[in-house]
Amino acid sequence: MFNLILFGPPGSGKGTQSEKIIEKFGLFHLSTGDLLRSQISFQTPLGLEAKKIMDRGHLVPDEVVVGMISTALDENSQAKGFLFDGFPRTAAQAESLDKLLEFKQQSIAVMLALDVSEPELIKRLLKRGETSGRSDDTNEEIIAARVAEYKNKTEAVADYYRQTNKVVMIAGEGTVEDIFERLSNEIKSRL
Ligand code: ADP
Repeated sequence: MFNLILFGPPGSGKGTQSEKIIEKFGLFHLSTGDLLRSQISFQTPLGLEAKKIMDRGHLVPDEVVVGMISTALDENSQAKGFLFDGFPRTAAQAESLDKLLEFKQQSIAVMLALDVSEPELIKRLLKRGETSGRSDDTNEEIIAARVAEYKNKTEAVADYYRQTNKVVMIAGEGTVEDIFERLSNEIKSRL
């Protein structure tokens, strides 16, 4: 199995690049954002609670997202590998993920971290908000809260994987194709 984390702040292009990576390399896409939005669309109790938190730009509790990931790993045990997108987002989630994988005698091969400047992020998120229907993309206050959560809680995840030399920084500005090529080269060199 080849397990990859695609990391970066909100708006860094994780979703766009994930779609291309799973198509090219046949990995199973696990996006906690997508899993949560699916719960919201089915109006499950979990989805209704999560929506309130997401619409404030805050992070959903660790145990909720770790539970969703644990279930998804079990349900797709035949996968060639997983692409984690938007997860782990806190150091505690990273530790939980390591434990879940260890239990299955698996591990993370690499964390590819997209590097994008803050003004570019805000521009992209507001642009996405014009068409995505995502309520958390429509106003600058919510976006600022998401960027603050990223700085306060999520950046630590990169430090966690740096301890085992698993982090590779990828320039996240330029064309979608250029960025995809940078990511693909890193993946190919490890397969
Ligand atoms: P983006 O990276 O563009 O902000 P996502 O779709 O990954 O978008 O996440 C949207 C929202 O879903 C986050 O702002 C957060 O509220 C919630 N969320 C997604 N993944 C996690 C996670 N691993 N832990 C906690 N909350 C999460």
